[in-house]
Amino acid sequence: MLDKIVIANRGEIALRILRACSELGIKTVAAHSTVDRELKHVLLADEAVCIGPGPSAESYLNIPALISAAEVTDAVAIHPGYGFLSENADFAERVEQSGFTFIGPKAETIRLMGDKVSAIKAMKKAGVPCVPGSDGPLDDDANNNIEIARKVGYPIIIKASGGGGGRGMRVVHSESNLLNAISLTKSEAAAAFGNDVVYIEKYLETPRHVEFQVLSDTHGNAIHLGERDCSMQRRHQKVIEEAPAPGITQKIRNKMGKVCAEACRKIGYRGAGTFEFLYQDGKFYFIEMNTRVQVEHPVTEMITGVDIIREQLLIAAGEPLSMKQDDIKINGHAIECRINAEDPETFMPCPGRITEFHAPGGPGIRMDTHIYDNYMVPPHYDSMIGKLIAHGNTRESALKRMRTALLEIYIEGIKTNIPLQQKLIDDSAFQTGGTNIHYLERKLGL
Ligand code: ADP
Repeated sequence: MLDKIVIANRGEIALRILRACSELGIKTVAAHSTVDRELKHVLLADEAVCIGPGPSAESYLNIPALISAAEVTDAVAIHPGYGFLSENADFAERVEQSGFTFIGPKAETIRLMGDKVSAIKAMKKAGVPCVPGSDGPLDDDANNNIEIARKVGYPIIIKASGGGGGRGMRVVHSESNLLNAISLTKSEAAAAFGNDVVYIEKYLETPRHVEFQVLSDTHGNAIHLGERDCSMQRRHQKVIEEAPAPGITQKIRNKMGKVCAEACRKIGYRGAGTFEFLYQDGKFYFIEMNTRVQVEHPVTEMITGVDIIREQLLIAAGEPLSMKQDDIKINGHAIECRINAEDPETFMPCPGRITEFHAPGGPGIRMDTHIYDNYMVPPHYDSMIGKLIAHGNTRESALKRMRTALLEIYIEGIKTNIPLQQKLIDDSAFQTGGTNIHYLERKLGL
């Protein structure tokens, strides 16, 4: 087993990792910024190392500082959490070159999946269904590009191979805009990602976002933990997630999950990962793989009973997976509402002091958060301050529990999106289930 690890993250996920380590008897080092000295996991960790000032570029993205934190504390591994450096192949490489274990896939896998063109190529080869498109980068041949777009059929979407976070994409509805849109996306991509490679995909107009969770060890075993529906999004940011996805039968789950697990074996995947798909008219189209643990992992944990962070740690320690595919049973339904420190109407971040916090509770309720009474939400980071998860035997029961918990949770001193979440849980289309990725923005009139 790993003796001691550095937690290279903050907030709820750092605390979540600390809890899993504590159960496994792994010692922890909290690598934190100056403004995060009083975070719960920093106070609870065996050791704490300050890695720099508040701005993440100088702390949570500071690779030499993080590696030094592992060196000075004699840690053996680094857990990157999500966001920050979690999908940075150079970081993974430098961690391993410095003699530590990176708790995640190999750097080469992160690199392969981080570039969308190479990821799609690898996934197609591994038998994963992808969105019809240019099958590779566009070149400068205008006629050829016009031909490709015609074949794919309008509307199409031009995407930057190096893009991420919902940036570097442009939808084109007709040929008259195509060439201009390609050159615009190319120059934006060059400026934003230092890589001007772009490609074309068919633009799906009413898809849902359905993703599969996988676990893959270093002994050639790979399993899936079913799917999540994360279609409730604003600006490509997930707002509510649930598992299982409404309408996905066990037969479809088995089939698609198997495709994902098989792809993991084929690319030699290591750790926890997520295959993201657009799902429309009963068909799945791969869009990207996230090579890290995701914010929404708890909904999967609630319905499978598998502790995903624990499995990440065990895989990193070189252990074989402790369960087989047949051991994975879907039990009930779970919904997660992200709780953000932001104005529920304008979505402007709202950092500041939390003067009072009461956590919700009761059967099936889980709240993953680092906040407490008098906690100061710093302005430097993502506005998410917690995740409220409700589990029930049925979707209806999970919804009812979530509704009660959202009435019970009490955060005073800062604005939060709780009023928005209450509205969404009561929304009749959401209650029916299966709304597409545009539903939330249309409802909000965006
Ligand atoms: P990123 O890495 O920036 O998150 P993705 O490829 O995952 O980019 O796409 C982000 C979002 O953009 C998707 O969740 C979806 O809303 C939209 N999108 C991407 N590709 C398509 C497509 N082919 N058709 C329709 N929408 C798409």
